[in-house]
Parts: sequence; C-alpha cells; structure tokens
Amino acid sequence: MKLNKLLKNFAAPVAALGAFGLLIWIENRRPLRRSVESKSIRNFRNMAVAGAASGALYFVEKPVTNRLTKLVEEHNFGLLKIFKLPRRLELLLAVVLLDYTLYVWHVLTHKIPFLWRFHLVHHIDLDLDASTAVRFHFGELVISVVWRAAQIVIIGVSPAAFKIWQALLFPSVFFHHSNIELPAELEKNLSRLITTPRLHGIHHSAVRAETDSNWSSGLTVWDWLHGTLRTNVPQSEIVIGVPAFQHREDVALAKILRLPFETQRPNWQLIDVETNHQ
Ligand SMILES: [Zn+2]
Repeated sequence: MKLNKLLKNFAAPVAALGAFGLLIWIENRRPLRRSVESKSIRNFRNMAVAGAASGALYFVEKPVTNRLTKLVEEHNFGLLKIFKLPRRLELLLAVVLLDYTLYVWHVLTHKIPFLWRFHLVHHIDLDLDASTAVRFHFGELVISVVWRAAQIVIIGVSPAAFKIWQALLFPSVFFHHSNIELPAELEKNLSRLITTPRLHGIHHSAVRAETDSNWSSGLTVWDWLHGTLRTNVPQSEIVIGVPAFQHREDVALAKILRLPFETQRPNWQLIDVETNHQ
C-alpha cells in the first residue's frame, strides 16, 4: 500500500488513539474534577461498552458512509455539489456543515425520548473523562447511521471531506470529555473556538438546565448562535451524571446495556436506592 493511501486510511484511527493516550496521561497528572468511582472499574466498563459500539461503527456505519460518500462524488449529490466550488472550499464547508448537523443530532438525542433512552447510557457515567468519550450504547450508534446518511447525501460529503471530519472529530470528542485541567486563560481562549473540558463538564451535569447546554462536539459557534452556550458553572459545583442514576448499582455494565430496552425511570428526579422510591 502506498504511503499516501496508508495515511488516508489510518489518519482518523491513529489521530484518535494518539489523542486518547496523551489525554489519559495528562488526566493522571492534572485532573479537573475529583473522581467518584474507581478508575479501573470505569475503564473496564467503558471499554466494554466501546467494544460493542466499535462493532456498530465498523459493521454498520462504515459500509454505509463509504458507499454513500462515493455515490456523492460520482453523481454530484447534495447542496455543495450544486455550486461547483473550488475543492478546498468545498472540503472546508462540508466539514463545517457536518459539525453543525452533528450539533443538531446531539440536541435531538436529548429531546426525543426514544433517542434519549440510548444517549442516557453515555450520560449516566458517574465521572467524566476520556473513557466516557467512547462509552456510547451500540444502539445509539446504529440509529445514528440514518442521520449520518442524511448528512452525507443532503450536504454532499465526498470521501475526502468525511475522512477529514472524522480525523478532527475523534480527537475533539476525546479532548472535551477528558478530565484535564487546562490553565483557565488558555481554556477560555480555546472555548471561543472549540468545545473544551470545562464546557462539556457543564453538559454532563446532573442539573437539567446545565445539561441542556453546550451541545457542540466541535465548534462552539453553534451553541453561541443558538443561545445554548454556558460558561458560568464552576467545575467544583458540578455533580456528573443524571439524578436517577447516582448510585454505583445503577451503572453496572449489564444494567446500562439493557437500559434503553427497559421501562424508564423519571430521569431527572433523585431515586432512593434502598426503597427504589423517589
Ligand atoms: Zn449529551
């Protein structure tokens, strides 16, 4: 395989793995929030959830996105292809529009009860760090393929644009889920452009009004434009998770994998674990 092709095919996974390793190293040295659960138990649980999720990505999402991006290229489908833009501008716009439509999808996973059943599995982690970034229920990833297909066909996303977006998205998702304490001034400046650990920490708060903010996975401009950007919650005041799942028993591996398919508790009310009454 030629070096060029090798780089194209493996840029996203290599960027993701590199970012993941680096963040775990920094998390140990400069944690932003105090942890509630043992790191080894959480790592094992989150990696198990991620294992099933990567199966969904590899066997469902990848074949669909490969096929559709090639079709877009061959048949000039989608909004961007109408304008016959210079290649670099088209690539840039495709990446920006993918980022915006992922913001919209993230809002929908919170607002549509059927989607929230799956996204909830990501949110009930009792701590937030780089391992939370890969803790998505496989069901959420399978369902999101429908949205991804629509993004590709409607925007007109070529294979190259899709690969660039993924190579940027994975490190970005690891970064803003991570538990690293950046110097406040540096993070303030970064957050004008991209989602940072403090911003995403507010999104993972157990206070509903705080969860309903900072939905962006890339550029913060989408939260700013929609009035959903929130910066005024100190990390020391944040309890990570969802109120009805604040006990370790609630977040055991088998339970969280079954969670989307079971009768749902009122998520935003505290549950007394002894009696199971609210
Ligand atoms: Zn969310």
